[in-house]
Amino acid sequence: MTTRDTATWITEALHGSFRSSYRADRVLFDTETGQQRLVLVDNAIFGRMLSLDGVTQVTERDEFIYHEMLTHVPMLAHGQARSVLIIGGGDGGILREVLRHPDVEQATMVEIDAGVVDFSRQWLPTVSDGAFDDPRLNLVIADGAAFVRDTRDRFDVVIIDSTDPIGPGEVLFTDSFYGHVQRLLNPGGVVVTQNGVPFLQGDELAGTMRAFRALFQVATCYLVTVPTYVGGPMALGFGTDNTDLLNVTEAELAARLARLDFAPGYYSPAVHRAAFALPRYVEKLVEPD
Ligand code: SAM
Repeated sequence: MTTRDTATWITEALHGSFRSSYRADRVLFDTETGQQRLVLVDNAIFGRMLSLDGVTQVTERDEFIYHEMLTHVPMLAHGQARSVLIIGGGDGGILREVLRHPDVEQATMVEIDAGVVDFSRQWLPTVSDGAFDDPRLNLVIADGAAFVRDTRDRFDVVIIDSTDPIGPGEVLFTDSFYGHVQRLLNPGGVVVTQNGVPFLQGDELAGTMRAFRALFQVATCYLVTVPTYVGGPMALGFGTDNTDLLNVTEAELAARLARLDFAPGYYSPAVHRAAFALPRYVEKLVEPD
């Protein structure tokens, strides 16, 4: 006997002819924020899942992986970041991880959609975990591209925690945006980017790396496997003029990590260094022959 599946399924169609679906045991929200369509569902495996314009952004179950790797790799490689800029990051996960670092004096977060912040604070509280109430936060509701063009502030670490290059996120993958980011880095500073799954979104990584090669002495990426970013490992872009950042030893990373009062669920000094070992198909996107 076949049973009719009466559950609601949320399908992500980011990759054209490849789709992934999640059973929505409850659809908690399906709304327009004025910038994007925001949907929040409950899923038996991933917990609460937030999507924007049909693309999975964050889930309670696996968010720690992406947020630890996009934050602690640049922060621990740098070792003494005091001023940090987060572009996007409306769910507060990156902000939570940045504020774990005792040297951070100010974290400026530029998020285009206040609805995502307000919504995440209320409905995904474990993601921000109180970070939005930290006095070191400077929250700016604005387009990140306009902010980096106009700001006179300078930063040690810039973290681009954007959506994919669709809708409001598209401007965060342009040469002019990266050029302004490079200009506002302090000496020895580093920028990291959310660059999708290269097996399915190779052009996105190739475009960022082409821009980074023109701007930085070091233009590379590192990999992280996030279960809900389907299609293989995800690439996180890494650009800096400080060539020492790629050579920090595992022992030094461990000493720096020990200054943070928490036990990561994914990050480790060994994983940090191994993440920069790229398979050939990714190397070719970073540095075409
Ligand atoms: N972890 C997710 C991923 O890997 O796709 C990204 C999470 S976070 C929710 C992405 C954020 O980028 C969203 O809150 C979205 O509103 C924000 N965003 C998109 N375009 C932006 C822009 N031009 N300026 C600032 N924030 C932007």
